[in-house]
Amino acid sequence: MSSLSETQAPAAAVQATPAHPRQSDFSFEVGTRLSNADGSPALGRTGVIRTPHGDIKTPAFIAVGTKATVKAILPEAVAELGAQAVLANAYHLYLQPGSELLDAAGGLGKFMNWPLPTFTDSGGFQVMSLGSGFKKVIDMKSVDQSGPDDAVAPGKERLANVDDDGVWFKSHLDGSKHRFSPEISMRVQHEIGADIMFAFDELTTLQNSRGYQVESLERTRLWAERCITEHFRLTDQRAGKEYQALFGVIQGAQYEDLRRKACQDLGAMEFDGFGIGGALEKENLGTIVGWCSQELPENKPRHLLGISEPDDIFTAIENGADTFDCVSPTRVARNSAFYTPHGRFNLSGSRYKSDFTPLAEGCECYTCTNYTRAYIQHLYKSKEILSHTLISIHNEYFVVKMVDDARQAIEDGTFHEMKARVMAEYYAGNPDPQGL
Ligand SMILES: [Zn+2]
Repeated sequence: MSSLSETQAPAAAVQATPAHPRQSDFSFEVGTRLSNADGSPALGRTGVIRTPHGDIKTPAFIAVGTKATVKAILPEAVAELGAQAVLANAYHLYLQPGSELLDAAGGLGKFMNWPLPTFTDSGGFQVMSLGSGFKKVIDMKSVDQSGPDDAVAPGKERLANVDDDGVWFKSHLDGSKHRFSPEISMRVQHEIGADIMFAFDELTTLQNSRGYQVESLERTRLWAERCITEHFRLTDQRAGKEYQALFGVIQGAQYEDLRRKACQDLGAMEFDGFGIGGALEKENLGTIVGWCSQELPENKPRHLLGISEPDDIFTAIENGADTFDCVSPTRVARNSAFYTPHGRFNLSGSRYKSDFTPLAEGCECYTCTNYTRAYIQHLYKSKEILSHTLISIHNEYFVVKMVDDARQAIEDGTFHEMKARVMAEYYAGNPDPQGL
C-alpha cells in the first residue's frame, strides 16, 4: 500500500493561451497533491498563486481588511505575523471613501501601505445581505427552506432589490440609494485596484426555494459573462496599470446539480480563478467544496468565501480550497476572545487577573513574546484599545500559522495525522469550543 508521503508528481504548469494577453501576468501552479489514507489522490493540494505584488503559497489564510485595514493591526505587523494577502470589501470602499479616491491614491495596496497581494470581493454579498437584514454567513444554520423568496428579517426594511440587470440598494451608512451591476462592480473593483477581484454574483440564502436558486444561478451566469467582457475592456482601457485577476463566483446553495452546473458554466469562461460562495450549511461544507473542486479547472485557484471555525479550515483544505478568508480573528479579539491549541477562551475571566503567562504557551507571535494575559486583561478592562491590537495580532497569527502548518503537512505527507492531532487538541481541551 502506498504510504501517505507518496504524492503525485506536481502537475506540469499547463498554461493555455490566455483569452486576454494580460492574463499571463497572473498564474497558479499546483505543487503537492494530498493523498487519501489509502494512497489514492485527494482533492487538496499545495500551490503558488503569482500576482503582480508577489506570490501566495497555498493553502493560505487571507486576512480580512474590510475597509482597507486589518482592524487594529499595523500593516507591518500584519505582514510580520505571516499573512500573505489582505482581502478588502468593494461595497464598503465604494461607499466610503469612494473607489475613485483609491484609484487616485494608486490603488488599495498603496493607499493602505500594504505592498503584498490584495483581494476585493465584488460587493454582492454585502449589497444583498445588508439589504435583506439577514446575516448570511456561510455556516448559517438551516432554517425553514419553504419560506418566501422575498423574506426580510423581522424588524428590518428591505434595502436591496435584485433585477436581471443588477441591484438597487440603500447605503447602510446614510440610506442613500445606489445601483450595482456587473459593469459597475467591475469599474469599482478596477478603481480599487486589488490583485484579485470577484465577479458580481447574486447571493441566495437557504431560505430561498429551489426554483429561485435555479433562476438566480442563471442570473449569476449571465452576470459572469458581463463581468468578463467589462473586465477585459477595462484592462485595455487602463493599460498602464498592473493586471488584476478576476475570479468567477460559484453559487448553487446546497444542490449538487446546481453547484456542478455552475462550475461547468463558469469553469468554461475565461476566469483566472474561482470563488466558492453562498449559502451552505456547516455540515455540507466539505461536500460542496468537493463537488466544486471536482468540476473546476485543476490549474486555477479556488477561494472559499468566508468560513468560521478551525475544523472548517481543514475540511476546506482537504476538499480542494486553496485560499479562504474569515473576519473572526480580529472580530472576536475586540471582545477579548483568544485562540489557543486547546480552544478559544475569553480573557475577561477572573482566572486571568494575575496570570503572567502568554495568551498561548509556546506561541511565537509578537504579543505572546512580549505580553502576559494579566496585562492584556488589564488593558481590556480599562478599555484601552491596545488590548484589541495585541489580541488581534495573536489571533491572526494563530490562524495563519495553522494553515501554514497544514500546507507544510501536505508537502510532508502528514496532513491527516496533523489534522487529527490539532482537532483533537482544540476540541478536547475546551468542552464548549467556540468558532474562530
Ligand atoms: Zn501568540
